[in-house]
Amino acid sequence: MNKKTPAGLYIHVPFCMQKCRYCDFYSFPKGEEYFEIYKNRVIEAIGFYGKKYARPYNSLYFGGGTPLLLGEKRLCDIMEAAKPYLTENAEVTAEGNPGVSERLDFSVLKNAGINRLSFGLQSSNEKELSALGRIHSANEAAETVKAAQKAGFDNISLDLMLGIPYQTEKSLLESIEFCNSLGVQHISSYMLKIEEGTPLSKSKLRFLCADEEKSADLYLFACEELEKRGFEQYEISNFAKDKKRSFHNTRYWLDDEYIGIGPSAHSFMEGRRFFFDRSIKNFLEIPFEENEREESSGGGWEEFAMLRLRLSEGLDVFELEKLYPEVSGAEILENAKPFASPGLLKISGSRISFTPKGFLLSNALTAEILY
Ligand code: SF4
Repeated sequence: MNKKTPAGLYIHVPFCMQKCRYCDFYSFPKGEEYFEIYKNRVIEAIGFYGKKYARPYNSLYFGGGTPLLLGEKRLCDIMEAAKPYLTENAEVTAEGNPGVSERLDFSVLKNAGINRLSFGLQSSNEKELSALGRIHSANEAAETVKAAQKAGFDNISLDLMLGIPYQTEKSLLESIEFCNSLGVQHISSYMLKIEEGTPLSKSKLRFLCADEEKSADLYLFACEELEKRGFEQYEISNFAKDKKRSFHNTRYWLDDEYIGIGPSAHSFMEGRRFFFDRSIKNFLEIPFEENEREESSGGGWEEFAMLRLRLSEGLDVFELEKLYPEVSGAEILENAKPFASPGLLKISGSRISFTPKGFLLSNALTAEILY
């Protein structure tokens, strides 16, 4: 890879106001005193990896946790440190949550170079929000989005969750309408997964979550209703208006390079995959390189194909064959053919792409056509 080819930069901010019932991410409530120490360490890491790889970044993603919880000043300090490495039109996204973000001065963030925001709405239904243990109301979410738009943000994403307690097609449609009426450009729509060890997995509420069949129905319903409102599906769980796709997240699906900073953050640089473990203590105290853990799996033609098949544009088998001559594109096309007539995938020339129905079965379907 050319030294000058831009890569992506991911910064994990593991702090949240309180833990949501279903959450398995590396995040926890912490006092403000931690924020400053953490910010300083992130700035050190930006300098360290900036020097080590000497690569420009054409995307930066503050993920979490709740990065906006750090506040305008600290985020500006981090942006200052990252700026020398960012390309002129870099996409810079910050995740946040309604309930902690509406008091922020979004214009400060805009001026610092953040040009995309992503908020965890999950639902606009108060009963569903409370079952998930979310701290915000639908009104607060609307206020947050409007405050960001007033400051000039015209690239805003909202997360919606499918299969959550109490959700019906009707309430899901109301949540979709809610997002649409706010005029956002992007929606990520994820299926709730009950992760072992989370409070939700031990609560009676888990019996109110959708079963496999109902989740499938809700997913197909969401895909259809979002398309009707102009949100084009470009990945299993992602929908965008006016081509405002997440450039940063798309680089993961294109198997592009990125550096991840912070506990639990993963990196893929110069053919090597590594990550920091889920320990803020280790991130703060151990020298960066000593704290890098090698990824035990990943890479190779299977991963390339699997990631491409997550995208609506799908996989070009001849491109795959060119990159990995040990693979037969023609064989993969043959394997895929039987699934075209039941409407699970489309074949166009050398390209295979899954339909929403195919996305629902993507793991099994991918295995069937690749092997
Ligand atoms: S806000 Fe997001 S990261 Fe934080 S606890 Fe809730 S789901 Fe997890």
